[in-house]
Amino acid sequence: MAHSRVAIVTGAARGIGAAVAKRLAQDGFGVGVLDLTEDSCAATVEAITAKGGSAVAVGADVADAAQVEAAVARVAAELGPPTVLVNNAGITRDNLLFKMTEDDWDAVLGVHLRGAFLMSREVQKHQTEQGWGRIVNLSSTSALGNRGQANYSAAKAGMQGFTKTLAIELGKFGVTVNAIAPGFIETEMTAATAERLKVGFEDFKNSAAAAIPVRRVGQPEDIAATVSFLAGEESGFVSGQVIYVAGGPQD
Ligand code: NAP
Repeated sequence: MAHSRVAIVTGAARGIGAAVAKRLAQDGFGVGVLDLTEDSCAATVEAITAKGGSAVAVGADVADAAQVEAAVARVAAELGPPTVLVNNAGITRDNLLFKMTEDDWDAVLGVHLRGAFLMSREVQKHQTEQGWGRIVNLSSTSALGNRGQANYSAAKAGMQGFTKTLAIELGKFGVTVNAIAPGFIETEMTAATAERLKVGFEDFKNSAAAAIPVRRVGQPEDIAATVSFLAGEESGFVSGQVIYVAGGPQD
């Protein structure tokens, strides 16, 4: 069945989200490149259009229901009904539990969990109407526990339960829902972690790589390739799964 080839990628101004947006454009999707401000999306949109793809920059906070509603409506109006959603927007506010503030907790759960909920609730309208869809949620190996990340690991474990429940609810509409749980990926997020730990980024990457079975850290393109599979036609019988993309097995 012919269906809309429009995707929305949140947090697509940089890092993993930017690589995912570029990859989906290369796969033939029109892409709603969403990040906090429209201006911050310009580089990703330019990279896509320079290669003949189509993309629109959309500024929205995924944790704000009204902004999410407007953002999804804009993508639908400019590119067509979005049937692929990649919930990638994310932040860290790392701290040991005794130093973690309520703001640290609320901000992280707000962007990851509330953001994925609001975006999915909005996009499923188009997906169910089209009778086809794909949702890919970004979890993390931190879902299994990581010192200094009580808020982030709770959010990323929450993404896994959210994924499985949406897979159960939306399957009959032709919509699959899966999560990718990356290990160490080289982005500004991991650079910021190195800075917080007062370690040089090269040393941080090298020591991470030494503990990873494939002996390297991940690149945003490693995640983009996995999203490409999950967003495509051929993955239609894969749903409710958490795929660890971490260079080795996870407990
Ligand atoms: P990143 O470089 O920090 O990029 C995240 C993007 O999300 C930024 O452009 C950020 O915008 C945007 N964003 C933050 N809050 C937002 C909001 N409320 N609404 C819309 N956009 C928002 O991070 P990354 O490393 O690419 O990570 C992408 C995803 O993968 C995240 O969900 C992260 O938790 C997950 N992940 C990353 C790793 C890793 O090793 N890098 C590992 C496992 C999982 P601003 O720049 O304006 O804040």
